[in-house]
Amino acid sequence: MQNYKYVLEVDSSTENQFLSIINEYWEIVGNKFVNLPSSIEIKYDIDRQILLDIIQKNSVLKLFANCINCEVTISGFTKSQSDFKSKLRSFDTLKCTDCKQKESVRVIELQKKQDNYVKNRMLLAITEQRWEQLNEMEFNILKSMLQFQDFKAFTKSEHPKYEKKFFWRTIFHLEGLFLIYLKKSETGFIIGYKTLFELKERIGELKIKKVKTEHVILDKLNFRLVKNKIFNEFDESEFSGIITFNQEIILKPNTKYSYGVWNKLNGDMHISIIPLNELESKPKQHSLSNEPIHIQEALREYYKYIKTRGN
Ligand SMILES: [Zn+2]
Repeated sequence: MQNYKYVLEVDSSTENQFLSIINEYWEIVGNKFVNLPSSIEIKYDIDRQILLDIIQKNSVLKLFANCINCEVTISGFTKSQSDFKSKLRSFDTLKCTDCKQKESVRVIELQKKQDNYVKNRMLLAITEQRWEQLNEMEFNILKSMLQFQDFKAFTKSEHPKYEKKFFWRTIFHLEGLFLIYLKKSETGFIIGYKTLFELKERIGELKIKKVKTEHVILDKLNFRLVKNKIFNEFDESEFSGIITFNQEIILKPNTKYSYGVWNKLNGDMHISIIPLNELESKPKQHSLSNEPIHIQEALREYYKYIKTRGN
């Protein structure tokens, strides 16, 4: 707290009988009044309203303090002890007009810089078409944000459509991509958002990239032959079942394949068909020798590998 200077001004027409009341009321040491209004009321046998009338009609306490940034003196005045207390709090952060103006210019410049930075990042996001990185649900949230502009209206309409965590995570994700800009309160609450006109006007043409599912064609076959548990008829197969492959498998003509069949512990069989050229390019797995691998050996190792993987 600053060291304030005080000057008590008393109206020259004040009746003499009030002078001691006024002086006692405004007696101040440090930044504290020596006498409470209640003790003055008792001493002079007057009520609060009369005391305040006497004080406010005849006197004023002037305060002088330095601007917190420079040496300029700022003055203020108070008409009562309680008013003085609240004035003191504001005096503690008081700045002169000049300092205030300089500061507001600085704040405006800083804000402009920040706005420019955000705008450039948002323009870059458009150039890089970052919405393409979104999945369909995230993309829909972005589109409704572009349509709504008003955060309250947007959340009221869109929030119930999504899982809560996903909804909020997406909003922060969109902010991270600079597709939107979130306006936050000092305590970090979202109070609104901005989107660029440049993005909004393209809303109709925005599209996400459809994830291309890679079409892999396998040229080898591995599957289990399930042991028939109710195997009792003469012509019934020992192994039978239904199998669905989730990939296309092509076995080419005029290509050498090696096949292997072996028993599984539970009685099932395992069959594997693999092109020879794949085995040729397969590195030796166990031997430490630098010798080139014989196809037979590679075959054994390959089947061993398949067997330990189960199906
Ligand atoms: Zn100043």
